[in-house]
Amino acid sequence: MTHFIIQPPPVPSLAVAGSSARFPLARVFCIGRNYRWQADEPAPTGPPSWFMKPASAVLDAHEPVHYPPQTRDFCHEVEWVVALSAGGRDLPAQEVEARCIWGYGVGLDLTRRDLQQEAKRQGQPWEPAKAFDQSALCAPLVPAAQCGHPKQGAIWLEVNGRQRQQADLADLLFGVPELVALLSRSVRLQAGDLIFTGTPAGVGPLQVGDTLSAGIEGLGAFSSTVLAPTKE
Ligand code: MN
Repeated sequence: MTHFIIQPPPVPSLAVAGSSARFPLARVFCIGRNYRWQADEPAPTGPPSWFMKPASAVLDAHEPVHYPPQTRDFCHEVEWVVALSAGGRDLPAQEVEARCIWGYGVGLDLTRRDLQQEAKRQGQPWEPAKAFDQSALCAPLVPAAQCGHPKQGAIWLEVNGRQRQQADLADLLFGVPELVALLSRSVRLQAGDLIFTGTPAGVGPLQVGDTLSAGIEGLGAFSSTVLAPTKE
């Protein structure tokens, strides 16, 4: 048995709908813009951008989130989340659903928007804007064996009961099999990887005390609250 110098970090994991078992997380990939934010927006000219968050940044979605440090513009992005049970390189899109996808969920890509805008201006990396502690929430994952491989369904987010984001999974510019295939040309995907598939229009700021609710038709819904900043 390997002797570790320090206690090995815990395996990050997510709840599974209807089960006490948990889904262990390897890595978190996030897709950039993947919905039209305006009706007259031109079709994308190339593949979408992607970035990562540490798996340890992912929280079960019913947990409250502390307002993060170093921002005055803490923003919600509701997203369809894909969980992989197998990976590989150069995956053919038509084989992705059957070979690689374990299940689906609804999640939040939380963003320090002011830091992201600054990073874009200066051509700097996005990690300070995207990869901070508690920067992703995800509701219990639903096995594809139960929900199938959705092709449509409402995706929505409300803050304090007011609608902020509303779209349909059918509006994705790049579909899930295509996204997984594209990523697999860049990295060797693996079991336990999560993919956040991009957010619809209506992203906006959160304040301490806000209650947010989000869901995807057929995949569940959740509510969370924004707590005051913590020093822990
Ligand atoms: Mn996002």
